[in-house]
Amino acid sequence: MRNLISIVLPVYNEEEGIVKTIEVLEHFIEKQPQDFELIFIDDGSLDSSVALIKSMQQKFLNIKLIEFSRNFGHQLAISAGIRYTMGDAVVVMDADLQDPPAVIPAMIKEWQDGAQVVYGKRKSREGESWFKKTSAAVFYRLLQRVTSINIPVDTGDFRLMDRRVVNELRKMNETDPFVRGLVSWVGFKQTSVEYERQERFAGSSKYPLKKMINLALSGITSFSDFPLKLLIWTGGLSLCFSGIYLLTSLIIGFTELKFLICTLFGLVGLSLIGMGLLGIYIYKTFQASRKRPLYIVSETSGFSQKSQQNYL
Ligand code: UDP
Ligand code: MG
Repeated sequence: MRNLISIVLPVYNEEEGIVKTIEVLEHFIEKQPQDFELIFIDDGSLDSSVALIKSMQQKFLNIKLIEFSRNFGHQLAISAGIRYTMGDAVVVMDADLQDPPAVIPAMIKEWQDGAQVVYGKRKSREGESWFKKTSAAVFYRLLQRVTSINIPVDTGDFRLMDRRVVNELRKMNETDPFVRGLVSWVGFKQTSVEYERQERFAGSSKYPLKKMINLALSGITSFSDFPLKLLIWTGGLSLCFSGIYLLTSLIIGFTELKFLICTLFGLVGLSLIGMGLLGIYIYKTFQASRKRPLYIVSETSGFSQKSQQNYL
């Protein structure tokens, strides 16, 4: 039986390029040995994107469309799209042809060879500003450092996921999902294929600085308590400084000003540590409230059918 591959494409005000995107994808699909479905999620576009996708539905029967009631954001659009997929594997990509379909066969190959997640890793980024490239590079490396899970650097949301991974993602009901973090968190065998990120075919980026900062914050706060630990460390340093200053002042001679400086650093240190600790308690409550599964078992062996059922 032929495999079915679902392609999930979030769309926000893409009227300039959406028809071309569909044509390029359909042209690509014709030549593939697998079956494909295209799942578009309209993230509350204000232009004619929806009408254009609907008109293309007349021409191509494998196009499905989900319309959001308003703009909920790229990450929620991807989360929703994934839920509607039927494929044995699911590919997520931009609707602006920045992620070339020609990379998909390489992803499918890795998947058929046993990988459950295949990232598209950007070797280069065509036509993007110096600022975007540098900020993205810094962000990915920072995220890599501060989070406990291994989010690969220079990968966006362009990736292929096996049905098992998608099923795990569907269980997550996070209010502010950071999809690429969740995919890393889920685990299984993950690998990457390199590609050159293309220039936007038409229209402009729908990720202004504000959205980029929000995405970065969402990534860090969903997967790390590093900022809270930083508070504790800074507080500790401040407290140490106060102690050392106090000791030296006692030896050299104590003045009113020195006393004030000691008290100031001491109190700032204590409050920072207090805030950090408080934050960590809140973070733990927040983690528990997200109800992520505690772990995911990929396989078991050696159990009888009956005892297996006890664990389900
Ligand atoms: N997008 C979306 N909702 C948004 C912003 C963007 O669904 O609020 C879509 C957009 O139409 C595109 C994809 O998400 O298909 C990635 O956005 P964009 O290409 O603007 O980001 P960039 O490639 O510039 O980082
Ligand atoms: Mg794009």
